[in-house]
Amino acid sequence: MAQGTFGTAINCIDGRTQEPVAAWVKANAHVDFVDTVTVPGPDQALTHATPERLDTLRKMVEISVNAHGSEMIAVAGHYDCAAFPADRAQHVAAIRDAVAVVRGWGLPVRVVGLWVNEQWQIEQVV
Ligand SMILES: [Zn+2]
Repeated sequence: MAQGTFGTAINCIDGRTQEPVAAWVKANAHVDFVDTVTVPGPDQALTHATPERLDTLRKMVEISVNAHGSEMIAVAGHYDCAAFPADRAQHVAAIRDAVAVVRGWGLPVRVVGLWVNEQWQIEQVV
């Protein structure tokens, strides 16, 4: 097992979202490090991916949980997402659905949903 405590973020590739999401997970899961699986528009991708792509995402998250003992998985959607242009309400609905998908993986970890707003601040929505 790696030294230190870990959380996991399923986040967009968008560079504007990395630091706020990682900081939120560190502060709220009380962990030292945040493993990050990135995919464009993850809130939409998790509910629209092909089974093969979804399996790839699940396997990446499982490495974080199984090898690093991750204590929280955060699924993030964000304002001004190039991969999933939608308003806040649509993103929040997608984040809820995406969290349900990740919870369905049956990992022994708390799963939360985060919205990164137009101020690049985090709102926990699930
Ligand atoms: Zn994005």
